[in-house]
Amino acid sequence: MVSFFRSLRGQLSATIISVLALGLGLLLLMAGTQMARMTLESFTHEQQVTALLLANTFSETMEQPQAEQIMALWSSHRDQWRRELPSDTNLSIFDMSGKLLTSSAAGDVVLTVSLPVLLAGDVVSNRNGERLTTAVPVHNEERGTLGVLQIDSSLAPMRAQLWDRWLALIGVTVATLLLILVITLWLAAQMTRPLAELRGVAEQMSEGRMDARVEIDDSVSELASLGAMFNHMAGRVETMIQEQRDFVANASHELRAPLAAMKLRAEILASNKVSDEQARTYASEINEEISQMAGLVSDLLQLSRAESGVFSPPERPLSVADELALCVRSARLRATARGQQITVEIAAHIPDAFITPSDMAIMVGNLLDNAIKYSPEGGAIRLCADWCDDQLEIVVSDNGIGIPPEDIPRVNERFFRVDRAHTRSVPGSGLGLALVTAVAHQYGGELQMSSSGVPGEGTQARLSLAAGLVQSRVIAG
Ligand code: ADP
Repeated sequence: MVSFFRSLRGQLSATIISVLALGLGLLLLMAGTQMARMTLESFTHEQQVTALLLANTFSETMEQPQAEQIMALWSSHRDQWRRELPSDTNLSIFDMSGKLLTSSAAGDVVLTVSLPVLLAGDVVSNRNGERLTTAVPVHNEERGTLGVLQIDSSLAPMRAQLWDRWLALIGVTVATLLLILVITLWLAAQMTRPLAELRGVAEQMSEGRMDARVEIDDSVSELASLGAMFNHMAGRVETMIQEQRDFVANASHELRAPLAAMKLRAEILASNKVSDEQARTYASEINEEISQMAGLVSDLLQLSRAESGVFSPPERPLSVADELALCVRSARLRATARGQQITVEIAAHIPDAFITPSDMAIMVGNLLDNAIKYSPEGGAIRLCADWCDDQLEIVVSDNGIGIPPEDIPRVNERFFRVDRAHTRSVPGSGLGLALVTAVAHQYGGELQMSSSGVPGEGTQARLSLAAGLVQSRVIAG
């Protein structure tokens, strides 16, 4: 029971029912009070009408013994009046001085209203304890006012009638409240069902069933959009976990291959069955494998740092032109070895930028490295840098083998390599562009690759870094 009231369903139901019960209670009180007032008014009105009718009947003769005779007549015929009057109604007649002439009551009866008021012609009703009294003057057209007629009846029948009405009113209110209770419980259950389902799916996911999803019921739009958002989030979590698994599998694979090659060579070397010349070749191959592994591990570390979300921009800006010249200088050695030309075009108006030099080296170095790797000997590579629309644009283009258009959306993925026979012979792990993209994201930027896929038409890599994190020298100063 306590847990029901602590649940959203319980609290929702309790709130709706309390508010409605309060409203209905107030309504019942107002209607009941009004009903009691109107019942008394109508009872009084009936008694006054009866008194006036009787006064009219008695206006012919009031003196004893005629009055007593009429009274006896009235007493014997009071059954005719019973429908309007309670059975214990008494009728009394007083003369002009207020002296009782005759009465149907058993005991003493006194006039309850002051004579001058009555004789002025008014009808006066009084509540005297549990009895209602009405007095009217008796007029005769020829003889004027003859005396006073007084009726008094018990209020008990009216109270009984009122009590019945109160019971009926309370009964209807309670029945309405019960109906409201049932409807509210049903409504609250309907409204909170998607939340309970959401909790169930979250539980399943926490137990490892990552494909569990909420069934979207659009009866409550907010809950439907919450469900849709939850499913979207669950989908993203599932994809991220899958990506993480693929990443670990790919990384292990990339590390296992050179390790196996190194182990093989190390075993041959250890067996001492090779010539000095061959031993030197194996040692240099092992060294090369180690360098590649070191490169891969360094790429992995840089990637995890760039994707960790922890980033602090440098305090000092760097000269973009100087930093690009450094990147080109280190790439030129490798390009020259392949007989390739690197041409550089850097716009003069590029402001200094708040980019860490090592990040600039990673981004531009990888793009130049790819242009060199995937271009034939004697190929032409171009690096252009410009500042437009508050963005630093760096474009590296080549005239190499190009990328098939269908693979372009995937080249930024970790460990993705275009599956071309001649690409396989090029060293690389498929982490370079993923790293460039991750670092560019830190600076609010992005990397766009474009290529026709036709060998010789090459590839264009466009790096845009948003102005938010690339600040001009003027601002820095
Ligand atoms: P890799 O270490 O294989 O170079 P990257 O992430 O740098 O990894 O690139 C992913 C893939 O995209 C490469 O394997 C290559 O197939 C393709 N690619 C990238 N740059 C170029 C380019 N300039 N010319 C042709 N293909 C490219």
